[in-house]
Amino acid sequence: MIKYKLTCKNCKNCFDSWFASSKEFDKLKKLNLINCSKCNSLNVKKSLMSPTILNNSIKYSDKNLESKKIRTFKNKIKEYQKFIKNNFKYVGSNFAYEARSIHYNTKEKSKKIYGKATKEEIIGLNEEGIQTQTIPWIEDSEN
Ligand SMILES: [Zn+2]
Repeated sequence: MIKYKLTCKNCKNCFDSWFASSKEFDKLKKLNLINCSKCNSLNVKKSLMSPTILNNSIKYSDKNLESKKIRTFKNKIKEYQKFIKNNFKYVGSNFAYEARSIHYNTKEKSKKIYGKATKEEIIGLNEEGIQTQTIPWIEDSEN
């Protein structure tokens, strides 16, 4: 997407408009489909401002926003991980086995575990009525 600053030669109105590409702008201009937002005059010109710089600056701020979102998301997961580490017992890749033994052994019902499981193992556990929760896991080394 390209944002152009357009100026109406008729009423001197200045307005922004979005186009898929500079080619699309040329096409619409030729077809007389670009008109002033105020007076509908077709005497509209692209202003000299470089659209690419404008476009880049938008992309740049979007990227910043995106990484901010990811950071917030990662922090949430890390908080969750901390809670799990403090309250659950780590069983590693034995998760499916341990989950079953807890489910079928009434004495251990209150035991809370976490660990690694494959997609198939989780599906199998769910079919047996064993509730599991999957969360994305971030290794401590990652930032
Ligand atoms: Zn105008």
